[in-house]
Amino acid sequence: MAKGLDKHQARQQELSLFGKDLVRRCGSQCEMCGASGVPLSIYEVAPVPSEPDFDRCAMFCDSCREQIDYPKRRDNNHWRCLNGAIWSQVPIVKALAVAMLDKLAQQEAWAKDLQEQVYLEGDEQQEIDRIAAELK
Ligand SMILES: [Zn+2]
Repeated sequence: MAKGLDKHQARQQELSLFGKDLVRRCGSQCEMCGASGVPLSIYEVAPVPSEPDFDRCAMFCDSCREQIDYPKRRDNNHWRCLNGAIWSQVPIVKALAVAMLDKLAQQEAWAKDLQEQVYLEGDEQQEIDRIAAELK
């Protein structure tokens, strides 16, 4: 148990090295829903690599983090923010947003409509598939 905790702390410490650059990148706004004036923290998008990877990290608010990880707590209306997130300049945020949209489109007509606007380039679909496979 203690070992797991140490591991967790070591990981947090490594991640905190990204903090400054992530804060700069996100401009104090949740990179998913755009909320500002709320606590943001570093979220590692699954599948999580063995070594922390800056390009797989994002700054998310608690609400987004919780709803990504716990589908039962998902408030579909919150995810109307995908309207903006699918256009994110940050590849990992965009990929996660599209993967979430694919989930929501199974339940929500607006999500289905929004799917038609998704514009993917290069090998973005590959990353989306990897994320979708991990997404609950
Ligand atoms: Zn958020």
